[in-house]
Amino acid sequence: MVAMVDAVERRPTVYHEAVSGIESKVSLKNVNVHYGPKQAIRDVAMEIPGKSVTAFIGPSGCGKSTILRSINRMNETIDIARTTGSVRIDGEEVNSRSVDPVVLRARVGMVFQKPNPFPKSIYDNVAYGPRIHGLASAKSDLDDIVELSLRKAGLWDEVADRLDQPGTGLSGGQQQRLVIARAIAVSPEIILMDEPCSALDPIATAKIEELIDELRENYCIVIVTHSMAQAARVSQMTAFFHLGDLVEYGPTEEIFTNPRDSRTQDYITGRFG
Ligand code: ADP
Ligand code: MG
Repeated sequence: MVAMVDAVERRPTVYHEAVSGIESKVSLKNVNVHYGPKQAIRDVAMEIPGKSVTAFIGPSGCGKSTILRSINRMNETIDIARTTGSVRIDGEEVNSRSVDPVVLRARVGMVFQKPNPFPKSIYDNVAYGPRIHGLASAKSDLDDIVELSLRKAGLWDEVADRLDQPGTGLSGGQQQRLVIARAIAVSPEIILMDEPCSALDPIATAKIEELIDELRENYCIVIVTHSMAQAARVSQMTAFFHLGDLVEYGPTEEIFTNPRDSRTQDYITGRFG
């Protein structure tokens, strides 16, 4: 059993389960993604642990967003993208024909770089998913889901008195927490975040990072970030990608203090990126 110090909370984080693969939530094997003739992801295999934060880092264009999208089949929404290989969640193949991508994407929520609330009220943004998935039969049930989701996203206190106002009227950081609340409202198991803080100021970024640290108690979180400091602060596991290859994957502290591959070393020391 190995312990490391979490950079945000300074409390020890045990990653022994993640290393041995016992608690693996997402399992990727032989994943290849092409855009037309161009290969963007080459033979990626990795075990992503549940109830923890895994960071994907690497230079722009190395395939971080592409591999993230392979987890909830979002690459299917891109005409020329073709994915092969196996992606399993709790052992179940997500690429199987019997899996409904709409249901999958409720299980595997996604948060993007630019906050994208719907042009609806704060309440309706969060209620949208539970409504289309039929998760609440009575208005009071829906109210409860909306409140709980906003609380979990750390936004309730700021919006409780203006739920009927447009989500797009909130600040960027609040919008990003609203989008996280919208994802949480359909009880996902996994939350994918693609550079969720890159449009935010440092204070809003710190709030999202705190939130990520809280959410990992209940969710498997995978975050793409171009900030190595952010990866070091929020994640327990880090994967370094380069030109479509998964170069190195392991406990965050090891990747940053003792990388095994010279490409990882060059990237984390700022020699390219
Ligand atoms: P990252 O997120 O690490 O910046 P991406 O996953 O976005 O990398 O891109 C990986 C590679 O795939 C890049 O070469 C990029 O140009 C290419 N790519 C990404 N999205 C598309 C797309 N929709 N159509 C064609 N090529 C794409
Ligand atoms: Mg990207």
